[in-house]
Amino acid sequence: MDFSLSVEQQSIRAAVARLCADFTPEYWLAKDETGDFPDEFHAAMASAGWLGIAMPTAYGGAGLGISEAALMMQEVAASGAGFSGASSIHMNIFGLNPVVVFGSAEQKDRFLPPLIAGKEKACFAVTEPDAGLDTTHLTTRAVREGAYYVVSGRKVWISTAQVADKMLILTRTTPLEATAKPTDGLTLFYTNVDRGKVEIREIAKMGRKAVDSNMLFIDGLRVPEADRIGAEGEGFKYILHGMNPERILIAAEAIGLGQAALQRACAYAGERVVFGRKIGQNQAIQHPLAQNWMELRAAELMMLDAAGKYDRGEPCGAEANAAKYLAAEAGFRACETAIMTHGGFGYAREYHVERYLREMQIARIAPITPHLILCHIAEKVLGLPRSY
Ligand SMILES: Cc1cc2nc3c(=O)[nH]c(=O)nc-3n(C[C@H](O)[C@H](O)[C@H](O)COP(=O)(O)OP(=O)(O)OC[C@H]3O[C@@H](n4cnc5c(N)ncnc54)[C@H](O)[C@@H]3O)c2cc1C
Repeated sequence: MDFSLSVEQQSIRAAVARLCADFTPEYWLAKDETGDFPDEFHAAMASAGWLGIAMPTAYGGAGLGISEAALMMQEVAASGAGFSGASSIHMNIFGLNPVVVFGSAEQKDRFLPPLIAGKEKACFAVTEPDAGLDTTHLTTRAVREGAYYVVSGRKVWISTAQVADKMLILTRTTPLEATAKPTDGLTLFYTNVDRGKVEIREIAKMGRKAVDSNMLFIDGLRVPEADRIGAEGEGFKYILHGMNPERILIAAEAIGLGQAALQRACAYAGERVVFGRKIGQNQAIQHPLAQNWMELRAAELMMLDAAGKYDRGEPCGAEANAAKYLAAEAGFRACETAIMTHGGFGYAREYHVERYLREMQIARIAPITPHLILCHIAEKVLGLPRSY
C-alpha cells in the first residue's frame, strides 16, 4: 500500500499553493467581514484551468481523478482560504458529475464548458426545511405541462444561490405515497435560476460569510424538458452516485483548513514569550498540537484511500464517509487548539483562527452530519440493524 503522491500530484499541489499565495489572509478576512463573493479568486482558479480538474477533457476539463481534485481542494483550504475559498469553487469541481455520467451529449455540450471556464456559476438544491437529512421526503414538486415541468416548493441552505446562474435541483415528480420505494419518483434538473420565479433569501450564518447560503422560494418555475437529467423518477440514484466524491472533497477541505490552523498555532507557539520562555516549550501547549497533527494525518490517509478506491472504480462508501467524519472532527479540534494556543488573541479576528473554527463547523454538518455517518458505518460496515 503506497500513499505517496506522484510527481504530477505534487506539482498540482505546488501550483495551486502558488496561485493561492496571491490571496492573502487579509483578503479572506476582508471577504468574511463584507460578505462579498470572492470573485477574484474564482476567476483566477478558472483562468488557470483548475475548475475543470475532474471534468472530461472533451468539454475543457483536465480529466483527472478525485484524488487530484481532493489534493487541490486541500491545498486551497490549507492556504488560509478555508471554506470561503473552497466553497466558492466546490460546485465547479464535481457538482455536475450527474450531468457527466447521466446527461445527454447535448446537455454536456451546453452545460459543462461554461462552468469549467468559470463563465457560469451553479448551486446544488437538495435540502428542504421539512425533510432535512431524510431526502426522500422532499416535497418540491415538478409537474409536467407539455414540453415543460412546472416546479414549486422550498429549499434551504442552498449555497451560492445569490451568484448562481444555474441550479442542479432535486424534485419530486411522483408523490411519495404513489411510489413503490421512497427513493423512486424523484427527478433531477439542471436549469436556469429564473429570479422572477425563485425568491432567494440569504440566511445570516455563523461563518463563511463570503459564500452565501439561502432559502429558496420556488413558485411556478418553468423548466424545459431538455433540462431534465436522465430519466424521470431516477434522480435519487443520480445524486447518490456523486455522494462519495462529495464526501472525499469535503474531507480534503477540512484537513486543509485544519492544517492551516495547526500551522498558525505552531508559529505562534514558537514566538510568544510568557513567563520568560516561549509558550511552545510547555508540554500543555505542545501535546494538543502533536495530537492535532496525528489526527489530521490519519484523516488524510483515510481520505487518500477513499479517493484512490473511487478513482480505481472500487467501492469506497465506508472510507469516504469515514474520511469525512475523521477529517471534520480532526479539523475542528485543530481549530479549537489553535484558538487556545493563541490565548486571548485567538479570539481576535486579525489572528484568523476564530474564522477557521467558525468555517470548520460546516464540514461537520454538511452534506451529512456525524450522527448519520456513524449510523451508516454501523449498518453498512458492522452489519447492525438500520437505525434511521
Ligand atoms: C453552511 C451550509 C451550507 C450548505 N449548503 C448546502 C447546499 O448548497 N445545498 C444543499 O442542498 N444543502 C446544503 N446544506 C444543508 C446540509 O446538507 C444540511 O444542513 C445537512 O444535511 C443536515 O440537514 P438538516 O440541517 O436538515 O438537519 P436535520 O435533518 O434536521 O437533523 C438535525 C439533527 O438531528 C440529527 N438526526 C436526525 N435524524 C437522526 C437519526 N435518525 N439519528 C441520529 N441523529 C439524527 C442530525 O444528525 C442533526 O444533528 C448546507 C448546510 C450548511 C450549514
